[in-house]
Amino acid sequence: MGLPPLSQDPDAAGGDCVACGRCCHHGPRTVHLTESDEERMGEVLLRRWTEVHERSGFRFLLNTGTRCACLDTSVPGRFPCLVYERRPDDCRVFRAASDGCREARRLGRLGSPLG
Ligand code: SF4
Ligand code: SF4
Repeated sequence: MGLPPLSQDPDAAGGDCVACGRCCHHGPRTVHLTESDEERMGEVLLRRWTEVHERSGFRFLLNTGTRCACLDTSVPGRFPCLVYERRPDDCRVFRAASDGCREARRLGRLGSPLG
């Protein structure tokens, strides 16, 4: 699951993120949406990119295989986010060059919950 590991130090300003995309590779129901996330995303995007987990009632981003469904993988080596301007807070608080980022690059996928 995930991508090949990356050994280079990440750019703390996020300059490597589109070429990396490792933290957007994870299992289902990893990125959860709050009410303000839902407002920001709006009805059309919520219908297209999210689902409500029946048992818990929480809303999550959809997954495609081993990654977030919102990750655009159409161009090899590029991993832009299709909903970047409206992405949930879970994604916004995840910092490039944080411990979680370094771990994701080392594993080739997210190894711990976002945040
Ligand atoms: S793992 Fe780090 S460098 Fe890679 S996309 Fe995520 S935040 Fe950016
Ligand atoms: S919404 Fe965007 S930033 Fe967040 S996990 Fe999905 S692709 Fe990555």
